[in-house]
Amino acid sequence: MTDVPTFRYHPDPVATGEVITGNAPCRCCGRQRGFIYTGPVYSAEEVVEELCLWCIADGSAATLFEAEFTDVADVPDDVPRAVLTEVLTRTPGFSGWQQEHWMFHCADAAAYLGKVGYEELLAIPEALEMVQRGVSDTYLRALSATGESTGYLFQCRHCGAHLAYCDHV
Ligand SMILES: [Zn+2]
Ligand SMILES: [Zn+2]
Repeated sequence: MTDVPTFRYHPDPVATGEVITGNAPCRCCGRQRGFIYTGPVYSAEEVVEELCLWCIADGSAATLFEAEFTDVADVPDDVPRAVLTEVLTRTPGFSGWQQEHWMFHCADAAAYLGKVGYEELLAIPEALEMVQRGVSDTYLRALSATGESTGYLFQCRHCGAHLAYCDHV
């Protein structure tokens, strides 16, 4: 397993819980490759936990199912179209409580690091500050990576800034 694909905008999809190990065959290439994507697939056909990482990385799964793996909203004007295409069609997405959305910084998509709660955010003041805007203190303190209100953490690949937003059930 030396050639596991890497994703610059989702560096550790196993750690974030969006990819699991297992021997189910991939519906795109038909091979059992040991890793199955469990995150969202936006396509006309329902594709649930049936894609390997290789078919996501090379774009073949997105092409076959005319699928996208995440949603983007409020994309800054300076983000190149090629970056958007990579995030939408060649990067594992992540599941949020509400419609999830990718974050951007320094004219690029940021790297998704995973779900976080209040405790984790305390260690990253700049991310805490972003989440804090517009939510109550009680809500903020109740944030949990596994609970019913959750923060989603990103990091800029250029300046290193942490970005985050939150949603709830
Ligand atoms: Zn495959
Ligand atoms: Zn940046």
